[in-house]
Amino acid sequence: MEYDYDDQNIFAKILRGEIPNKTVYENDHALAFHDIQPQAPVHVLIIPKGPYVSLDHFARDASPDEQAGFMQAVAEVCRLTNVDDGFRAISNTRTHGVQDVPHYHMHIIGGRQLGRMLQD
Ligand code: 5GP
Repeated sequence: MEYDYDDQNIFAKILRGEIPNKTVYENDHALAFHDIQPQAPVHVLIIPKGPYVSLDHFARDASPDEQAGFMQAVAEVCRLTNVDDGFRAISNTRTHGVQDVPHYHMHIIGGRQLGRMLQD
């Protein structure tokens, strides 16, 4: 599998500070910010700072430090958003997964009862 990273994607622009974001948490390897079109009371996107297009790319090529930093951000977002009653973590991937932004991101969605995972 070849992963071709486009540094003009919107999350790359957010990482470079060219587009503002509402930051929830940041560390050396990851940034978490509120989704611009929230689907629930809690809807946060967590992205690595490195140039990875998707979950499988990140899992294959990110260093242990990058992966640990990302997972630390997941823990902090869950703590800061108080999703103690549960949440859904989603990483839409490429065409079948209907991924719109080609920079790896994990959605953390919660704050209300969610529907079943897949509708069709
Ligand atoms: P995807 O379909 O790629 O999994 O989801 C991309 C997400 O990024 C969508 O939920 C969309 O609302 C969000 N998004 C797109 N552009 C921006 C932006 O400029 N700022 C923020 N905060 N979220 C964005």
